[in-house]
Amino acid sequence: MKRGKWVGGGLIGALAVLVAVGLWKTTPRGGPEWIPVVHRPEGIMGTTSTLAAVVGPGDESRGEAALGEAEAELRAVETLMSTWLDDSEISRLNGAKADEEVPLLPETLEVLRSAREAWGETRGAFDVTCRPLVELWKRAGERGTLPTEAELGDALSTVGWGMLELTDAGATKRAAAVRVDLGGIAKGYGVDRAVDVLERSGVAGGLVDVGGDLRCFGRPAEGPSWTVEIRNPFGPAPLGRLALPHGAVCTSGNYARFTEIEGKRYSHIIDPRSGWPADAVPAVTVVAPTALEADVWSTALSVLGPEGFALMPTEVHALMVLGSKNSPHILCTPGFSQLIEEPPAAALHIPP
Ligand code: AMP
Ligand code: MG
Repeated sequence: MKRGKWVGGGLIGALAVLVAVGLWKTTPRGGPEWIPVVHRPEGIMGTTSTLAAVVGPGDESRGEAALGEAEAELRAVETLMSTWLDDSEISRLNGAKADEEVPLLPETLEVLRSAREAWGETRGAFDVTCRPLVELWKRAGERGTLPTEAELGDALSTVGWGMLELTDAGATKRAAAVRVDLGGIAKGYGVDRAVDVLERSGVAGGLVDVGGDLRCFGRPAEGPSWTVEIRNPFGPAPLGRLALPHGAVCTSGNYARFTEIEGKRYSHIIDPRSGWPADAVPAVTVVAPTALEADVWSTALSVLGPEGFALMPTEVHALMVLGSKNSPHILCTPGFSQLIEEPPAAALHIPP
């Protein structure tokens, strides 16, 4: 069993973004008013996390306890859903025979149902049954040659929600080779669960950031909004800054994790319709009410490109970086541009 890594090698060094600030102490004239309690646990879902709770003076231990519970929630989600853990629910499902119902806990079923819904909303671009393709491209990278047509055809024949059935109590695969990969959704789900724990604890505000997938609520220790920097895929200077009263931000990057084959880079995000890695979108940052939605749509838009904007629900906003280092091109939905405090230096092109 490997620990310290997450689904699909996942999330390691996630390009994702995002430095959350506003965690410093507010010290107005009468003494401290709002105090941030911050934990930075390592190794959850293969990445570094920041959890913060904002409390009034004297409430620090309540904040500490809430953060401990939120961290435990993240670890519980990882234990259920990682493909890096042999005894996770998803590994058990992946190892199961055809036509045998695998009992699953309600949390795992909830994520699988959300994933199935996302598959419909994204016209198949977001597909957690894509694991056979993810594994094929990983093997291709290791041996250094592109997959053959036959290999691609084999893998594609086991991908799609026609191959997996959900019931109230579990899931049934229609072929033994069907495999699920929650690397594009479970981190967002975990962030949402951890935020629920913090909100229920009664702290004044909080933030959970797992490798750049983050969600915040309530008041920051200072200022009216949480501030989130959007990392630039082509350089060190941030692309811009978001002022977020509450909500989630996720970034997916086609160049952030890749395999190199015959001198060309191939993304870890696969277009499940063609079987080939998605290569048109260097980075996309999504703002949504929940981290699950932001996680789903950042992965989906990496596959769909600008055409995906038309499929997004109205409460989801995105900024997409296209082009290359020498000729970047930024597309941004109107909702996203309203949240930008410091706009990107490059021109914004708002799609109609
Ligand atoms: P993210 O970093 O959230 O964009 O998720 C990328 C991860 O999701 C990959 O490493 C795979 O584990 C998985 N994945 C790759 N392609 C897809 C896809 N088209 N739909 C859903 N999950 C995917
Ligand atoms: Mg994702």
